[in-house]
Amino acid sequence: MGKDVLGMEKYVIGLDIGTTSAKAVLFQKNGLVTAESESLYPVNHPKPSWAEQDPIEIEKAAVEAISTVIKKSTIQKNQVVAVGLSSAMHSLICIDQHNEPLSPSIIWADGRSVEQAKKLRLNTEIYLKTGTPIHPMSPLCKLVWMKESHYQPYQEASMFVSIKEFLLLRWFGEAVVDYSVASATGLFNIHTLEWDQHVLSIAGINQEQLSRPVSPTTICQGLHKELADQMGVTPDTPFVLGGSDGPLANLGIGAIAPGDVAITVGTSGAIRQMASKPKTDELQEIFCYAVTDDRWIMGGPTNNGGIVFQWLRDVLGQKEMELATKQGSNAYDLLTKLASSVSPGANGLLFLPFLNGERAPYWDANARGTLLGLTLSHKKEHMIRAGLEGVVYSLFSVGEALERLAGEPVQLFASGGFARSPLWLQIVADIFGHPVQVPESHQSSAWGAAWFALLAVGEATSLESIKSSIPMKQTFEPDQQSHKVYQELYETYRQLYVTLKPHFHSLAEFQRSYK
Ligand code: ADP
Repeated sequence: MGKDVLGMEKYVIGLDIGTTSAKAVLFQKNGLVTAESESLYPVNHPKPSWAEQDPIEIEKAAVEAISTVIKKSTIQKNQVVAVGLSSAMHSLICIDQHNEPLSPSIIWADGRSVEQAKKLRLNTEIYLKTGTPIHPMSPLCKLVWMKESHYQPYQEASMFVSIKEFLLLRWFGEAVVDYSVASATGLFNIHTLEWDQHVLSIAGINQEQLSRPVSPTTICQGLHKELADQMGVTPDTPFVLGGSDGPLANLGIGAIAPGDVAITVGTSGAIRQMASKPKTDELQEIFCYAVTDDRWIMGGPTNNGGIVFQWLRDVLGQKEMELATKQGSNAYDLLTKLASSVSPGANGLLFLPFLNGERAPYWDANARGTLLGLTLSHKKEHMIRAGLEGVVYSLFSVGEALERLAGEPVQLFASGGFARSPLWLQIVADIFGHPVQVPESHQSSAWGAAWFALLAVGEATSLESIKSSIPMKQTFEPDQQSHKVYQELYETYRQLYVTLKPHFHSLAEFQRSYK
């Protein structure tokens, strides 16, 4: 990275506030990671479909992640030119006028507002303006639930904020929110880049109770000395707003041009593409969020990413887990090796991966998993392979919906835990029929946030120039023969959800009442 007048190297931190942890990554300007640190926090489920976190606990974890990453490296605090921020989408906290939380942080996985979502979804106008699919994940549905259930923190709140805004308010006293976090609330008009008054009235709140939407290169500065000391940075370190983890992963992986598609599969998953204009349509399958003044991101999230492989490992991989513990190896790697002994298509076994209900493209909490086509000749390896393929078919089906709005994919970029498996990445290349590029670092969102920070302080010149600062590891080329096999099986796959939907719904009903 460039040096300052005293000849000292300069560094930038990407701080990613995720669902399970706060990750701080110290980068050089060329994207190389100097040090990483992760501080974990739990998700609480006080009722079966509720998902909450303690915002104060997250604040402590964020401070700890920054201080640890600085300690791990040997740099001086004034070598950090900026901190860029990334956060998970859709969190909602009711706070009082002293910026103290009145409620927990209710996160994307919370399903309490399912009935409100069902009703709101009929009003297509809301989605067309906000680009946020109507689903219990969105703060809009949560606010309507709060209003209808006379939730006390809602009635007493002076403001409603996401976890990132909460930190900015407490650290800098600034009520600001970047466009992409604002977009994911379901309250923000992606065409005008302002809060939508009509939608606010549905939520029963007013604009003064929300932060001011600003561009991702906006800087907050002036940490209290005590807090700066705790973090191990100087009080005047610029903190740059950045965005939500989705668009930042696209940026951090270099998927910013038309036709560049990013596929992220961690516990859940998503497929996303940037666009120069917002687009939504009546089908409400795809999200469209603002990122900058002239760039939007479209895509779809899936509930069933790596968690499907985790489930298969837990249910079928007892032997591999024991072996992995004994050998000091990894059960996923052992199971992947087993699955690679079977040819593409898993001998006609299809796995619908909706173990966790599904968001895009069906937005159906009652969707369920299915293993279809079993014969006596199928073995464990076929089931594992079918599971890995099923997750990718599902992403491919979201990709088809995305293509309708955002245009044809040209090249794919992969990130997240699944990128540790060469077999899984080859399946992506073969099902999509396009090359898949994989970066060196798994921390794409943190790098995207760090890049916005570099842009904000004048250390980078454009969004696009990040392309030359993303160390890439490997490209997986599609195999045409396998692509043909997958195309044939996908014809069956794509019809299954619609055919099975009534059965999924009656089974889901049965499961809910099953004792
Ligand atoms: P999170 O989304 O919680 O941050 P990760 O990005 O670490 O999670 O992804 C976790 C998922 O990655 C696991 O559920 C598993 O499916 C997958 N995974 C992890 N290691 C491997 C591996 N070696 N091979 C294949 N898949 C893996």
